[in-house]
Amino acid sequence: MAMYLHDDAVCLRVRDFSETSQIVALFAKSHGLISAIAKGSKRTGGKSPGAFSGPLDPLCQGEIIFIAAKHAGELATLTAWNLTDPAQSLRRNWRAWLAAQLMAEVTLAVLEPHDPHPELFLELQAALSHCQNLRMSAAYLKAALSAAGLQPQLDTCRRCGQMLAQMPANAPVWFAPAIGGMFCHGCRRNEPAVATITPVLRALARLPAPTTLQTAPPPARPADPIAVLDALRLLVAQIQTLSERRLHTAEFLPMICGINGKASSPNAADVSKLVQHATINSREQAP
Ligand SMILES: [Zn+2]
Repeated sequence: MAMYLHDDAVCLRVRDFSETSQIVALFAKSHGLISAIAKGSKRTGGKSPGAFSGPLDPLCQGEIIFIAAKHAGELATLTAWNLTDPAQSLRRNWRAWLAAQLMAEVTLAVLEPHDPHPELFLELQAALSHCQNLRMSAAYLKAALSAAGLQPQLDTCRRCGQMLAQMPANAPVWFAPAIGGMFCHGCRRNEPAVATITPVLRALARLPAPTTLQTAPPPARPADPIAVLDALRLLVAQIQTLSERRLHTAEFLPMICGINGKASSPNAADVSKLVQHATINSREQAP
């Protein structure tokens, strides 16, 4: 007999499967990443009223009932979805929406399917409720890397051991995405590395620590958008290198930080690209 599992979940990605069904990528609190088919989720007033409170949308949260996949690589079967948070506040704010998309994409990139991360799930819920706060988004990326055992180590040069705290202000340094570590200016050899400066690494180090996003309120003072953009770029470079996957949201980082003035009015091409990314995705990339 099929075993029905209950959990809370954030919907990370949605793809139409048929007139009435969807394929969804979910981050479930006790079950980790789940790829599932939601048969009949788009049917309104259908044969089994109550099983789905409506079609699933990216970044919404809800209670789920599902039957786990029998074999690795197969889809689970979502049998019920009860929407608890429609993410309305994200849909009213483009920058918050893009930041949330970035967090969803990073979650899919760094976690293994069916590997539970209840702590990170709570961190994602906290970050989603503060998406307009740039530091929260960057802190969530750091938390996701940490949950995957990939937290960047930025306190000392990985070659000579010089401490970041003792390097001069505004000194040039190198960030090596493949090791999530830094080299002082003179220590970099041939390894691929991103040029940056010490204040960016210090800003990264000062972000709220992983596992504290739920309890620590976001810092009240506004973040320096350029410093956060640089920090996000380093984290995204590390995530892309380690997951061997290009993040679609990477090109929207300046918009998320409100740097290029497009944040209040993204152009039509940007919007359609993002909507396409959120709703129609290749099967290969599903977890
Ligand atoms: Zn060094």
